[in-house]
Formats: sequence, C-alpha cells, structure tokens
Amino acid sequence: VEPGAAQVLVGSHLDTQPNGGRFDGAYGVLAGLEIVRTLDDRGIRTRRPLTIVSWSNEEGARFPLATTGSSVFSGQLSLEDALAQRAVDGPTFGAELARLRAAGGEEVGARPVCCYLEVHIEQGPLLEASGSAIGIVTRSQGLHAVEVVLTGSALHAGTTPMELRRDALVGAARIVELVSELGRAAGGLGTVGHLLVEPNSRSVIPGSVRLVVDLRHPDVAALDTMAARARDGIEAIARDARLEVELDTLLRVDPVAFDEEGNRVLAEAAARLDLASLELVSGAVHDAVKLAPVVPATLTFVPCRGGVSHNPGEYASPEHVRAGCDVLLQAALARAEVVP
Ligand SMILES: [Zn+2]
Repeated sequence: VEPGAAQVLVGSHLDTQPNGGRFDGAYGVLAGLEIVRTLDDRGIRTRRPLTIVSWSNEEGARFPLATTGSSVFSGQLSLEDALAQRAVDGPTFGAELARLRAAGGEEVGARPVCCYLEVHIEQGPLLEASGSAIGIVTRSQGLHAVEVVLTGSALHAGTTPMELRRDALVGAARIVELVSELGRAAGGLGTVGHLLVEPNSRSVIPGSVRLVVDLRHPDVAALDTMAARARDGIEAIARDARLEVELDTLLRVDPVAFDEEGNRVLAEAAARLDLASLELVSGAVHDAVKLAPVVPATLTFVPCRGGVSHNPGEYASPEHVRAGCDVLLQAALARAEVVP
C-alpha cells in the first residue's frame, strides 16, 4: 500500500430489524472480508488500501436516526446529534458506543477516501423475475413525506343531516385516492400508509384525521411536482369538504445518482464473468445512498428469494452471493490498483 493513498471502502451494515433476516446488511460487510481474504490468499498487493466498513445503526431499529454511521461520515448528521439519540430501551447512542468499546478516537474524515463499494440483497423481486444475477443501481429514488391533519366536526351520526356535516374521513378518503393517482400519473409512487381517525367510533362523524402522504420518485423535479400537486389537491379537497387542514413536511430525501464510471466497471466485470446484469433504481435507502453525494459510490444488488426481506425467511442462494462477491472483487481491484 502506498503511504497516504486514498482508501477503497467496501462494506454495508451489521445491524438489522427486530425480526430481520441474515442477509440484509451482513452480506455486504462479509463480502468486504471475503475480498480482503482472497487478496491475502493470492498474495495480491494494491496501491490503495482496502478498508472494510460496518456502518452503525443503518436500520434505525433501536436508535431512531437510521443510517447513523454513514450520515455522520458523509456530513449529513452532526456527531453530537448522533451520539445524543436515545435507544427505544433508554440509553444514548454515545453511551452504548462507549460501553461496547466501539467509540473510536479518530476524527471523522481523517483518512482520504477514493470510493465506496457496497453489495446488498435486492430486497425486491425484479432481479429474480428477470433471471439476472447482478443488479447495478444507477439511482436511488427520492422521498417526500407530509403529515396532514384534517379537522371537521365530531357530531352524532344519527341526528346530523348530511348537508351540515364536516366529515374529516370523507376528506381523507379523497386524499388517499388523489395520492394514489398522483403516483400513477407521475411514474412514481404515492402511498397513504397511516391514518388516525378521531374519535373512531361507529356512531360519531369523524371529527379529525391525521394521515401521512408518502411520495417517491427517482427524479428530483418530478418529485417536487408530485409534492406541489399533492399540496394543491389536498387544500382543494379540504376547502370542498369545509375542513381545516394543516400540512407539515416530515421527511425529505433527495434522489442520488451512483458513480457512472464505477457502474461501467461493474457491468464489464459481470459480462466477463458471464453473469447477466440489470440496471435498477433503489427503492430503499442504503448506506451507499448517504455516501454517494460525497464520494464516488456504487451499489450492487443480488437477487433474494421472492423479494422477501426484513423477515426471517430472507434468503439468497450461494451462487448469487458468490456472484456479487466476484463482481465486487473486480471493481475493488480496478479501484485499488494491483501492484505488479
Ligand atoms: Zn440493509
């Protein structure tokens, strides 16, 4: 290794969901380990150092700030906020890092980075359906989540004439329909997955509804258009139903593009190894999504059975696991530069 040379990072995360499987995350970290062991077995030396990374708290299952490690590393979350976040069972992230002796002393960003390579199970059905062993992720979609609170009048369902009602759930139902239509029309995704109806009683007209609109699209302009149309449409529905409405952005994640040159190397490696590959957009957030704005980053997928993930039934075949490692090894060698 050449002194001072920028490092090639290979990794993913080891944390999982409470009822998660064995592959989500762990596969990418073990792939890094397998690559380094393979180079050692073959006595191959590289000009740039290869570094295996296991990012902390990617899932956000125990601590609320998902992708904690990669967000701090890429400057999208302050170290203070990361350390201060509290686990669902009480202690702070900082206290747990200290207790586990996992709190390193090195300053974030102290070592120069050449690129980041991550391999992950797809967590969706597209690769399996296409028969491809390798997914090359070109972009990740952006996300815009808006909380909507509709307020009407909670009156007696048996005595209030229809024309006098201000039924918040009737407004909410129209919003659910609108959001679904917006997703379809924009070639994106629109979901209302959370509704809280008050007082939620058979004989009372719903007086208020809290719902969350979740919009996703790989193109930032299209995502902004969807969000603007949703806002206008929701306000029009509220006016029409004589409801008060409050809108509040809960979460906004911009789409990112992965490294084109890196993806070209991956596609060539797959072709050389006789593995069918497919270009994909990542629907989920991964550590690579956090790294992509600050270093050349690639995200490679392998198929998982039935697209099942975040479930103990999660499974990827040994052939596919090996295919992902093989392609990643080639990409790592191209970036780290073999010393003859
Ligand atoms: Zn993951």
